[in-house]
Amino acid sequence: EGHAAVAVAGAARRRVLFFPLPFQGHISPMFHLAGVLHARGFAVTVFYPDFFNAPDPSRHPAFDFVPDGIPPDVAAAGRVAETILAMNAAMEREGASPSVREVLTSVIAADEVGQPPVACLIIDTHLLAVQKAAAGLGLPTLVLRTGGAACLRCFLAYDMLLEKGYLPPKESHLYEPVKELPPLRVRDLVHTDDEMVFKILARIAETVRNSKGVVINTFEELEPIELEQLCGELTNNGAATMLAVGPLHKLSSINTGSSLNLRPDQDCIKWLDKQAMGSVLYVSFGSLASLEYGEFMEVAHGLEKSDHPFLWVVRPDLLRGIDGFEDRVEEVLLDGFEDRVEGKGKIVQWAPQQEVLAHHAVGGFWTHCGWNSVLESIGEGPMICMPQFADQIINTRYVQAVWGAGFDLEGKLDREKITKAIRKLMSEKEGAEMKRKVGELKNRVAHCLKSNGSSQIAMDKLVHYI
Ligand code: UDP
Repeated sequence: EGHAAVAVAGAARRRVLFFPLPFQGHISPMFHLAGVLHARGFAVTVFYPDFFNAPDPSRHPAFDFVPDGIPPDVAAAGRVAETILAMNAAMEREGASPSVREVLTSVIAADEVGQPPVACLIIDTHLLAVQKAAAGLGLPTLVLRTGGAACLRCFLAYDMLLEKGYLPPKESHLYEPVKELPPLRVRDLVHTDDEMVFKILARIAETVRNSKGVVINTFEELEPIELEQLCGELTNNGAATMLAVGPLHKLSSINTGSSLNLRPDQDCIKWLDKQAMGSVLYVSFGSLASLEYGEFMEVAHGLEKSDHPFLWVVRPDLLRGIDGFEDRVEEVLLDGFEDRVEGKGKIVQWAPQQEVLAHHAVGGFWTHCGWNSVLESIGEGPMICMPQFADQIINTRYVQAVWGAGFDLEGKLDREKITKAIRKLMSEKEGAEMKRKVGELKNRVAHCLKSNGSSQIAMDKLVHYI
């Protein structure tokens, strides 16, 4: 409430446009930011895709929604990287109807029919095509980086990493430190000889540098050194300002829906209510990561053997290459898995994750280390990290080596290793020490959210800047 009071006078007569990337981990922080700015007096317009992960406008009556014009064939592009490039290509395609320029123009023109005038457009770092179209219309863009500062600092350093020979990585150098980006080692970098991924990283750097400012979903007390370096680099290289306003889910209570439009299963909260304090391991690999059949079975057996209660999110598309999995969990999970773990284990398709992590019964989180999951877990519970791609590997390094809030489940998945890792996290001394570190992080989160805390101050600055 104190902060609603520092809304900029007249902000109600200004509109901010939001263009998220339509993946859960990108939509949620964008909606949270939109919610905060709306509470500070701005009108909000959100561009959304018809083709997948479309939010339900009726759940956000305070926002205006405008279809982004991206054709449905983009949804069939495949992997995340392919979808990102296909989206941008569709928006840049000559003769696309409507083009992203037309979509933006029609929204800006609404000023003339009594809508508040547009102040700026906030885009995801992956949407260079939108930024170019906005620049052509004289519309300033701010970029929301939905990952952490360490990761962005690393992505902006790829030219240096190639030049200095860290990349492409040599097998014998994987555990060597990247001395320009401590505490990263060569193995923590996004390794790839895949042109597509380099293209994406280069486009992120261009989008960030062409923007009027970068808003990051992290906070000073979590990544002080990384933010300082990033700020120096960005403000010397074009972007006019950089603001760490996270963790955004703590600043806004907007419910951002769920991937694949699955409903969060509230029954699992009732189930958690019956479990002992700190006894349950929550297992979720986010909205995109998937497992091979063999890996999936190791996870299932590892959980069963660990003899710890668990709540496991098994999305319908968690298992690679098996369609219609949602109706066949029991069949695929060897006969009777659910009966055998009855009372001890619960499987859901989608969980109300923040509520789960904050529940007193949950004592640990086995995660793929997507940035949102890490932010949501920091201050709630320690983590077993199982990164798969993109920033997840960097996030894991920070969870383990910098924050001491968890450890990396390195290497091939096997049930023995999983069982040991679960015991280490949930019932051994090392896990208890991680829990203690998480308690300290909780204090840091509380600090940045106070009315004179770093994230509130950054948010005030953002409001004034817009
Ligand atoms: N999430 C959720 N319920 C689930 C699984 C995930 O609400 O059952 C949410 C989670 O809280 C997080 C987001 O989905 O906000 C996943 O984002 P993250 O950055 O962790 O990973 P990504 O899905 O982008 O790989």
